[in-house]
Amino acid sequence: VRLAFADQHGVIRGKTVVAEAFASAVKSGMAVTSTLLLKDTSHRTVFPVWTRDAGFGAGMLTGASDILLVPDPATFRVLPWSPHSAWILCDLFLKDGTPIPFSSRTILKDSVAKLAEREMALICGLEVEFYVYALEDERLTHAETGMPPAPPKTTLVSHGYQYLTESRYDALEDIMDELRRNAVALGMPVRSMEAEFGPSQCEFTFEPATALEHADTMLLFRSMVKAICARRGLHATFMCRPQVENGMASGWHLHQSVVHTRTGENLFMPGADGALTPAANGWIAGLLAHAQASCLLTTPTVNGYKRYQAFQLAPDRVQWGRDNKGAMIRGLMAPGDRASRIENRVAEPAANPYLYFASQILGGLDGIRAGREAPAPVENPYETDAKLLPKSLIAAVEAFEASDMLRAELGEDFVRYLAHIKRAEWERYLSVVSDWEQREYFSTF
Ligand code: GLN
Ligand code: MG
Ligand code: MG
Ligand code: MG
Repeated sequence: VRLAFADQHGVIRGKTVVAEAFASAVKSGMAVTSTLLLKDTSHRTVFPVWTRDAGFGAGMLTGASDILLVPDPATFRVLPWSPHSAWILCDLFLKDGTPIPFSSRTILKDSVAKLAEREMALICGLEVEFYVYALEDERLTHAETGMPPAPPKTTLVSHGYQYLTESRYDALEDIMDELRRNAVALGMPVRSMEAEFGPSQCEFTFEPATALEHADTMLLFRSMVKAICARRGLHATFMCRPQVENGMASGWHLHQSVVHTRTGENLFMPGADGALTPAANGWIAGLLAHAQASCLLTTPTVNGYKRYQAFQLAPDRVQWGRDNKGAMIRGLMAPGDRASRIENRVAEPAANPYLYFASQILGGLDGIRAGREAPAPVENPYETDAKLLPKSLIAAVEAFEASDMLRAELGEDFVRYLAHIKRAEWERYLSVVSDWEQREYFSTF
């Protein structure tokens, strides 16, 4: 059984136990090394599991002592493509039972509980885009420089620019259907598949479920897609904007409605006049008010900021519109429509699902608590004077650190920690000379 947990980047890590040891792991947790005796690696080139700096370590985890993976029994699933193995998701605790501040699944559970105090729950539907390539060369290279291994050599598996045609879908059908069957066998409520605008770009959507269920769905879906593709000599990436000529960025749209926990009533469904309900009004206003500060959680990579461009069905500023795919938030509310909801188009598919969903709950809840009012919906989203989304990861780090709401809700430790590792990621990016610079300056000067 693979005891899997989401690290702070939303990547699955874990340890595998044999069946005989599983019962004891469920009962008492499974120890893993906290690795905090290692030198702080966050300024080098790897994505750290966690790092000694930024408040963790001192007094809390000394001597690389163990931390505990505590399995959540409701998440047990046999892997359909490897039927002798199963996945179970775990939360992270110190040995004395204290939750670890960088355990993102715990952060989402806390946010869900805060919303539940008002007898409300977030229901969400997922739309996830990603690219699939054929691997040309599967050899792994390991550089001695401390740099990550070179990306694999790949070719496109379908062209772009014949959006929604049968022939393009058919070219992808083989892999799409295998992904669908495995996702369904894992218990995921797949709704639709499509060949997206970009060459080799795919999309899966999922029926609505609770925030925790669907954060788990995304964590496992990304790993599943990558594993199944790799077994067939393909490479899948949820990186936001891979280098593809005429490519489109991949987005991760989150459909959201808030329901009453006792009655199940959809609190976003408007009355006969179609006006925003109080819950929808506060939720939208809160998401807009905290959008820039939350970008580090919705768009946590350097690459994700290359998606925020006009006229690409992606947002570039903070606003909402009615059924408008250029606005950050697309309102889909109509009198009598029990599926009334909003779609937030802000996130990249590489986001940590737990932190992304927590940011939506905390922003929306703050809007409701503070009685915030949503501005008027926009019609021409790329021609308004609304605030822009951050232009870069470092701008997002600064907005995140400056947010009183996020500091209060997520805790100073976590804010300092995430800002630390993301600032280090930005500094690694800045230290490398890009292809663009070489072309722009090498001959001219
Ligand atoms: N790829 C777009 C995005 O970045 C969405 C495209 C679409 O909605 N068809 O969000
Ligand atoms: Mg779609
Ligand atoms: Mg799409
Ligand atoms: Mg969408």
